[in-house]
Amino acid sequence: MAKCYIGLGANLQQPAEAIASALAKLHAHSDVSNLQCSSLYHSKPMGPQDQPDYVNAVAAFETKLEPLLLLDLLQTIEQEHGRLRERYWGPRTLDLDILLIDNRTIDNERLKVPHPGIELREFVVIPLAEIAPELDLPNGKSVKSLALSIPDNELRILAPAPSFT
Ligand code: ATP
Ligand code: MG
Ligand code: MG
Repeated sequence: MAKCYIGLGANLQQPAEAIASALAKLHAHSDVSNLQCSSLYHSKPMGPQDQPDYVNAVAAFETKLEPLLLLDLLQTIEQEHGRLRERYWGPRTLDLDILLIDNRTIDNERLKVPHPGIELREFVVIPLAEIAPELDLPNGKSVKSLALSIPDNELRILAPAPSFT
């Protein structure tokens, strides 16, 4: 079993509902256990600013899926939510990124773990610290101290973690 952390984000149609529905799909999946999720956060877009604000969250679970099969699962769920890849960092109905898989480092064409954006993104680091304050990244940095030092870019809690039990 590997412990995985994923980042969820959405800014089109009904973002909070898309995140809740993605979590429900993960919860229902036979290879996903002990799912937990941060609060839902309201965040400012990264990159192009002419797009709606985002809803973001970070979830954790255990899985025996190999990393590329986990990526396949997440991309299938994105597709089920009508994800179209248009502009880089452009608006999307649902984005599911693998942040961490245990203490592993993976660097291939399809998958980079830890996700290279973790430390730069308040909408990742702050929700991650909410659910895993004692966690250290594979490079040794403490999630809690990263969350305390990153500019919050107006990130705020929007709603409690959706319930999927
Ligand atoms: P970013 O990864 O900077 O947040 P993005 O989420 O908008 O950007 P996507 O369009 O969702 O990017 O994904 C582009 C590609 O990134 C995917 O097809 C996937 O193969 C690759 N990728 C590499 N590492 C990861 C990862 N850790 N999690 C999810 N996708 C990844
Ligand atoms: Mg992303
Ligand atoms: Mg992505």
